[in-house]
Amino acid sequence: MIKHLNILDEKDKILRNKNEIVTFPLDKKEKKLMYDMLKYLHNSQIEEIAEKYNLRPGMGLAGPQVGINKRFFVICHEEQEKVFKNYIVINPTIISHSEEKIYVDGGEGCLSVNRDVEGIIPRYARITISYFDELGNPKKIRAREELAVTFQHEIDHLNGILFTDRIDKDEPYKDIENMRPL
Ligand code: ZN
Repeated sequence: MIKHLNILDEKDKILRNKNEIVTFPLDKKEKKLMYDMLKYLHNSQIEEIAEKYNLRPGMGLAGPQVGINKRFFVICHEEQEKVFKNYIVINPTIISHSEEKIYVDGGEGCLSVNRDVEGIIPRYARITISYFDELGNPKKIRAREELAVTFQHEIDHLNGILFTDRIDKDEPYKDIENMRPL
């Protein structure tokens, strides 16, 4: 069975609210929601399931997108063909990042933004993040390329920022020559 999540649209004010620090231990309901979110992302990236249930493929989903104004998100990353790695990321902090910037060629997507958006979003090519997992264990990850972009996109959600905010309105492809396409 597939579990449909109520993912909020970009117009929803909840996406713009302040998000609170998560306290440990998580309650059962919070943990279940995180696992459901991961399951949803995983399903959305499997073509046959996505088609059957009309799911838009997504790699990441943050608390505020499902109506929870707390500082957490989940990522389901296809590391190799059909090999997925799940991340539950709670109270993240960016420790360091590369000078080099990249952008997603063809534009970023977001499960809360249901329209085509023109333009590029500058992102760091590599970042190091510290966070906690669902058991409250401290973790650290060095992410690069697509995964680094996803972490930055999701951290933005925790600060009430959508990728569309980061596109220059007058010049949607501004500084493209200073960045590497992904
Ligand atoms: Zn998003």
